[in-house]
Amino acid sequence: MKKLGGASKDADKQAPKKKKAKHETSHAEAPQGNGQKSVAVPQKKGKGKTPPSSQAPGPSDKAVDAPGKKGKGGKNTKPKPVPEGDLPSKSLPASSNESSLTSLQKGMKDSLDGARFRLINELLYKSDSSDAVKMMKDDPGVFNEYHSGFRHQVQSWPSNPVSHYISELSSYPKKTVVADLGCGDAALARGLHSKKISVLSFDLVSDNAFVVEADICSRIPLPGSEPSSGQKSDGEAQVVDVVVCALSLMGTNWPRCIREAWRILKAGGDLKIAEVASRFTDADEFVSLVGSIGFKLHSKDDRNSHFTLFDFKKVPQAAKTEKEWSKLMSKGSVLKPCEYKRR
Ligand code: SAH
Repeated sequence: MKKLGGASKDADKQAPKKKKAKHETSHAEAPQGNGQKSVAVPQKKGKGKTPPSSQAPGPSDKAVDAPGKKGKGGKNTKPKPVPEGDLPSKSLPASSNESSLTSLQKGMKDSLDGARFRLINELLYKSDSSDAVKMMKDDPGVFNEYHSGFRHQVQSWPSNPVSHYISELSSYPKKTVVADLGCGDAALARGLHSKKISVLSFDLVSDNAFVVEADICSRIPLPGSEPSSGQKSDGEAQVVDVVVCALSLMGTNWPRCIREAWRILKAGGDLKIAEVASRFTDADEFVSLVGSIGFKLHSKDDRNSHFTLFDFKKVPQAAKTEKEWSKLMSKGSVLKPCEYKRR
């Protein structure tokens, strides 16, 4: 995986030029194939509107269209294309704070932030989760950058999956144990705290008391086993009633997260998945893959234009051979990556 460039001394040199051409972001169709390591940095695009059908949601629309991006007369600013693997520096000179920036500088900063956000997003979707872990370790600031972009974007949605799950899980019995895999800023845990629902929140980086640091596509630090060889069972020792994956099946090895969800869920436990609608070429294929790992579809809700909600129930499974597992685990391309590009 390409490394993100940190703030460089050449910040000024890399600063974007004001351009006349309008640009926006879109949620582009993902290239096929997993494990793609190349990094497409933001490219210049001409004018033109993308039809609404291709305007899927994505954590960059708002980030890139953030207020202040437009210069005088409503013209947007645009960063210079940067060489592959390099990235516009994180900000304008360190001494600048938001309030002291001119509108042109704000526009430049928003464009740079948007470019960085799109690149981080792309890296997360097109890499194995072990690469994401490494990227966060190398530069923990990347996590915050990603999340400030993500938060901007979610604000522009008519509704978001976490709010839906807070309201749905509020009516679950007290002492229900929920594992929120890829929890972000742990909005679910915060929202359910007063309802006496215990939420165990996991993400790549923990920058607050709610979140436990873990790669959800590796070994989640919770008890539970898979069936022993030759047996059909639910495994044993689980403590989790509900697993939530809200927009978090990001790495190319995401099927591994579903396998982990099965391992940590009690018998008959719920698996709730929310994913960006445009990631699906064939939702039935997704349901079938999750089913093969050990879940039965309970409901699917695709009424929302931005995301699709799936409720699965854990069902007992016969032990699988390594060969069977590796076949299932290699099917990450069932979900397309979210890509955001200027247009
Ligand atoms: N569920 C939250 C955050 C969604 S953003 C919400 O809906 O608000 C997706 C989150 O998944 C990010 O915080 C990202 O860091 C996390 N994520 C993606 N892959 C991960 C992995 N392999 N391990 C842990 N967290 C992961």
